[in-house]
Order: sequence, then C-alpha cells, then structure tokens
Amino acid sequence: MFAKIAIPSPLTDFFTYEVPPKMEEQIFIGQRVFVPFGKFRKVTGFVVVLTYEKPEFKTKKIIDLLDDKPIFTTEMLKLAKWISNYYIAPLGEVMKTFLPKGIFVNSEKRFFRTEKKLPKNLSQEESLVLEFLGEEGRIYKDLDKKFKSVNFVLNTLIGKGLVKLDYGLQKNVKAKMEKFVKLLPKAERPLEEVQEELKRTPKQLQILEFMIGNLGFSKLSALLKATKSYHAQVKLLQEKGFLEIYEQEVQREVYQGIEQKELSQLNLEQEVICDKIDFAVTNKKFKTFLLHGITGSGKTRVYINALKKVIDSGKTGIVLVPEIALTPQTVTRFKEAFGEEVAVLHSQMSVGERFDSWRSVHEGKVKIVVGARSAIFAPLKNIGIIVVDEEHEFSYKQFDSSPRYQARDVAVVRGKLNNCVVILGSATPSVESFHNAKTGKYDLLLLRKRAIKEAKLPETEVVNLVSEKENLGQWAVPVFSGKLITAIDQTLKKGEQVILLQNKRGFSTFLQCVAKDCEYVAKCENCEVSLVFHQSEKILRCHYCDYQMKVPETCPDCSEVTIKQSGIGTQKVENLLGSLFPNSGIVRMDIDTTRNKKDSHQKILEAFGEKKYQILLGTQMVAKGLDFPNVTLVGVVSADTGLLLPDFRAGEKSFQLLAQVSGRSGRGKTGGEVIIQTSFPHNPVIQFSKEHNYNGFFDSEIEIRKVALYPPFCRLVMILFRGEDEQKVLEMAKEFRKNIPHKHFLIVLGPTQAPLSKIKNNYRYQILLKIDKKQDLNNRETNQILKNVREDLKSKFQKNKVSVSIDIDPFGML
Ligand SMILES: [Zn+2]
Ligand SMILES: [Zn+2]
Repeated sequence: MFAKIAIPSPLTDFFTYEVPPKMEEQIFIGQRVFVPFGKFRKVTGFVVVLTYEKPEFKTKKIIDLLDDKPIFTTEMLKLAKWISNYYIAPLGEVMKTFLPKGIFVNSEKRFFRTEKKLPKNLSQEESLVLEFLGEEGRIYKDLDKKFKSVNFVLNTLIGKGLVKLDYGLQKNVKAKMEKFVKLLPKAERPLEEVQEELKRTPKQLQILEFMIGNLGFSKLSALLKATKSYHAQVKLLQEKGFLEIYEQEVQREVYQGIEQKELSQLNLEQEVICDKIDFAVTNKKFKTFLLHGITGSGKTRVYINALKKVIDSGKTGIVLVPEIALTPQTVTRFKEAFGEEVAVLHSQMSVGERFDSWRSVHEGKVKIVVGARSAIFAPLKNIGIIVVDEEHEFSYKQFDSSPRYQARDVAVVRGKLNNCVVILGSATPSVESFHNAKTGKYDLLLLRKRAIKEAKLPETEVVNLVSEKENLGQWAVPVFSGKLITAIDQTLKKGEQVILLQNKRGFSTFLQCVAKDCEYVAKCENCEVSLVFHQSEKILRCHYCDYQMKVPETCPDCSEVTIKQSGIGTQKVENLLGSLFPNSGIVRMDIDTTRNKKDSHQKILEAFGEKKYQILLGTQMVAKGLDFPNVTLVGVVSADTGLLLPDFRAGEKSFQLLAQVSGRSGRGKTGGEVIIQTSFPHNPVIQFSKEHNYNGFFDSEIEIRKVALYPPFCRLVMILFRGEDEQKVLEMAKEFRKNIPHKHFLIVLGPTQAPLSKIKNNYRYQILLKIDKKQDLNNRETNQILKNVREDLKSKFQKNKVSVSIDIDPFGML
C-alpha cells in the first residue's frame, strides 16, 4: 500500500510514501503520520490518499502513525483542499492551520502501563516497549529515541488496554489535574457511631458531615472552603480510613461560573427574521443570509435563536466573532444560553486552554464553538449553522502568513459543503456582502430598530476643526473643540459615561524639525515609516518592527533646537483630558495598555462597566461590540486618520469605524449623542455617518468601485516581493511580470513600490492583478498561471534572496 502525504512545507502539495504492511490495518485518510523528509529530517504529515498503485519512482517508508483515529473528517479534508487551491497554499500548510498549536509538540507525552505483569501473546516489540515503560512510565521523547515505530506499537498496546497516556503534550499543555475527595465504605455507618468516634475532633466530624450531605463526593478546594478547614485535617480522615483524596483530570474552563439564563422575549422584527431562518434550517439546504441590523438591534439574540433550532435538531454550530470582540461580554451571552454545550477558541487563550477546547470539540463533547478567525476550522461534525458576526471586520482575513484565507468566505464554503445555513451579520456590511445581497446571491434580513424599546440611534453632530481653529485664532487645529469639551463636562455631571475614539496610539505620531529648509522627520532605521513618540517611556518607537530610539535634543540634520512633536496619539489625548477633567477617572485602551497582560483588555472593560472610570479612551478597540447602557456620549477626536489613506477600502473602513463607535452611545434608555471632529466635514463618508445612512453610503461607494474597477466588480490578487537588495527586488518583480501571459480576463498592474516601501530592512514591491470573475471562475486559470510562474522562477528568486508572497482577495492595498 502507498500513501500520499501532505507535509506542512512551502513546497509541494503532497509526497508519496510506502505503507509498511503491519500498518495497513491502522492507517486512515485524515490521520497524522511521521515520515522521513529530505536527507536527514523527519516530519509530521497528513494522509490524504491511500492506494495500491505502485508509483514509478522510488519511495521511502512511513516511520510511524501518530493518531489511532483520523483527526480530519472527509468534510474537513475537502475544505482544506478548497482553501489550498483557492488561496494557493500547500495542502499540508493548510491542514496544519486546522489544528491547535500544541498538538504538534509530541515530546512530553507520557505513557504508562496499566498492568504490572506482562501478558502473553505479545509481539517482541510490544514486550520490549512494555518493559521499557517500567513502573514510572516514560515520556514520548525517550521512547522515540529507543524504538523506531513507537507510536504504532503504542497504539496497538493502547488498543489492547495495556498502556494509557497522560494527554498533556508539553509542560504547559498538560491536562489540568485537580484534587477530589470521596467517602469510603467506613463512613457508611449510622451517623451516631461516626459522631461517637470523632467527638474529640469536631473539625473532622464537620468535614465528614459535609461530605455525607454532599452525597459522598466533593472537590477538595470546595470542601476546604465550605468547612473552613485545612488540607491536613482532611488527610487525617483519610488516615482513619473514612475517605480518600485523589487526583483527576479536569478541563481548564476559561469562562467559569456562568449560569444559564432564560432568554429575553423576541420583539416583532426579530421574530419575523427568526421565522425565516428557522424555515431555512428545517429545509437543510445551503443558504446564506446577510443580517443587516443597526447597532443595538439584537443580532446576537437572533443568532442564539437560530442556534437553538439547530441544536434541537441534533446538529452543531460555529459562531465566528472578531478577535477583538471576543470579550467575556460576548462569550457570556452564548454561555448563558447554551451552558456546557459551548466551547470557546481564540488566540488569547494559553496553548493548554486552546488544546482542551479543541479536544472537547473533536471528541464531540460540545455542540457549539464560539471563536475568532481560526474557529472556522473547528473539528465539529454534522454542522447545521455557521454564524459570522461583524462580517465586515478585517480581522477575518489572515494577511501575514500563508494560508492567507478570509474566514468569512471560508465560512460560506464550509456551509455549502455541509448543506447548511450561513448567517453573516453586521451593522455596516462589507461592500462585497451587501452587493451579494442586492444581486440575490445572499438573502437580506433587516433589523431597523434598537432592541430596547426606548433606545434610539444617537444624535450625531459634526464639528469642523478647521473653522474651530480659525475661530480660536490658533496656528494648528485643536485636539478638542469647545463643543466636545462642553458635552463631556455635561455628561460627567449627569453621572453618565463617555467613550472617546482616537485611532492612533502613542503620544505624538511623529517628530519633525521645523527649522527653515530642514525637512528632518524621525524615521525608523529599518522601515520607511516615521517613529512615534511614547510619552510614558519617553522614547520613539516604530510600530512595525519595534525599533526604539531616544528623542534627539537637537535636529540630527541641521543641529538646531527645533525638534517638534506633531500629530495626536491616544497618550496625548489622555494627558490633555487629565488636565481638562482632573476629577474624573480616565482609562486608556490600546495595544500599549493591553499587549503584555493576558486579561488587561477584559479588566479595563469590567472596571469601566462597574463605573470605576467615567471616560474610556482608545483606538478602534473601543469601537467594537461594547454594550454599556450608561454611555451617552461618544466623541471621535479625529475622524481624519483613516480617511485619506491610499487604499480602495479607506472610505469603507472609515464609515464602518464611525458607525461602530457611534453605536456605543445611547444603548440604554436615556438616549445618546455623538460628536465627530474632522477637517473634512463635507466628505460623503462623514455626512452618511452623521445620518446613520448605510444605504446612502453603499450607493455612493459602489459607484466608485465600479468606475475604478475594484471588488466586487473584479477579484484582486496582490503579489508582494521582498528582499534586502532593492535593485534585485525590483528586477525579480519585473521578471515575474514578464512571465505572466497576456489573458483577456486579466489586468496586470505594476510592479510598483508598495505603500509601505521598506519594513524591517526589507524593500517591498508589488504587482496587482484584477481578474474578471465571470471569465475565470474561482481564479482557476489565474492561480495556475501564478503557480507556474512561481515554480519556473523559484531558483532565480532563491539565488537573489527575494521572496514572493501571493495574496488572493487582499483586504486592502496597505
Ligand atoms: Zn521599523
Ligand atoms: Zn533640522
């Protein structure tokens, strides 16, 4: 027998290996195997094809089988193949991203014998392995060193019930153990007898009584807490033979102690929508809905309703939420509705936590997975619904490493493979999705009212910073207009809260020399970007490579003392706020205040929810998904930061950000207000935001896309070339372009310098392709062309130390 094995390498899709005869019965498609690779390496790969056809070339043998059962279902394998083809990523690399990180680290797995005696009828290898395990057991690393196909032998022994393994993979991925207490037969006597025996040790008696009242079983920690006793006292009872303390594996539960709750009543609008979704769920056919609901209209309530319907019919569901919105607030809603049936997967979890969650999904213990981007690969079986909340969010696109997939689009494909319902939800749908709904590819569902009866969309006012500057007679536009200051002041006086958005972190955003004829700007040594001043550490920092430098006292170019900070970051806004409102609590949330501490994001939000702070200030982090009824004012310090970026999505992103942050205001019964400060008050994005007019924005934006030929009117492919020698990078980019044949469905632009022309000492050039979607379905022809060109030029690229990456459907041009 032979097997085609997908290997996580950037080279080829799969390699053929011979299956040793003894393994034929235990090998399955979708299983992990260990194979020799190249001259000296051994790597993990995935079985994708099994065949008896002998290949014409010489093959190596599979060394070992790593799983006793396949970990990829047929459906998951199909999905992986689709991603591999569409995003031009090697199959093994794609399959690797389906799995949690810890599963690849095998070396600390520990194996034990279940019986002391060696049974008969064992093969020689099996006896040797059992003998080697001894009484203490052995870790995988040692076994692997000593025996060749040790997994295969271990799997056989596990199958025979002679070996068990401690499921932990690494030290920090080890299954979590907890101490429990149970009563022994000695305690099952008339209570009077027990009381008599323990009358001189009242604490022990109390412990025993608690255990009897608890049906003879308790967590040790709970017992100690309830009886206010010490471990030693419980141990004495164990010595007397009343009870036993033992260890047992428990799941690491991240969101503990959330109780299930009754669901709120659906309002009329929600009910109509839920009926439509229910109907589709019952129909068991593939269908994609776009749920366009204004902020605060109760989209999550609709998702929960649909999920209930699916779970009741015995199926399972996936809910994707943007990483940043995966706050306890969101998770709690699903936990309250579905309790233990929900598993959470996201990148802020430790490797161990993620591994536990993944394992319980794999073993079919949970029915619903809530998670960020990669949760779309959850190993659920029998999927009945996939929900993508905030479908417009850019974090669904993996852009920095292969496979560069868009989880929302993968969700639709997975829905199709499962013949199930997909719901894409948003208050500000992406232009592509709304276009799909308008042209009938998706079914449009609308929620126009806020879920809380009295809550309305907030009143929005636009403040023109340029006229404000002229009125005040200042030389630069002010950070705060008089209007915003007054509004903050009044809100605080009413005991209500404020959210302020400034979508730039740091203190000032760049440092320049203002001497006449000097053009010095402090720039990163490794990247073609300006450095940002961070007040708290008093340093200049690069936001792309973390390069840091001290603030120069004089200008490095002209030696004048004319260095000046320009631009406004969150730290500067925080400082100014502090001096304007010295008596109110201000908390800042951006990457700098949340990067190192695991729960800091959550803690800031909790404290703000408990009204420990009156003003929450931050970057786009404060715009998404937060629901604080006491917030009645949202201020946008500058709406201009993203408006003018050289990107076809600049308008869309700005509109979404403004709509999302505005949506944080007035979610309670008291109503709310939004103030947007800008130097471009007549820009259509600003105007449509002010009116909460998504349709108006869409109509104007879709015209721009049509004229300039951008998605959804074509498909984009961005090819990025990188290297340390700028000349060579450009040369190779030109060579690549020359090799792309002329096709009627293809427009090739570039190579041009990338907008970020140098990052981490690497020069960057790009080629942009525009593809006629109708003429090249699923990029089939284009992808083949790109693969061929890349293959043909491989050695040239290697020789010149230029790397090339291909991004299908890039999120933007930056
Ligand atoms: Zn840098
Ligand atoms: Zn200067």
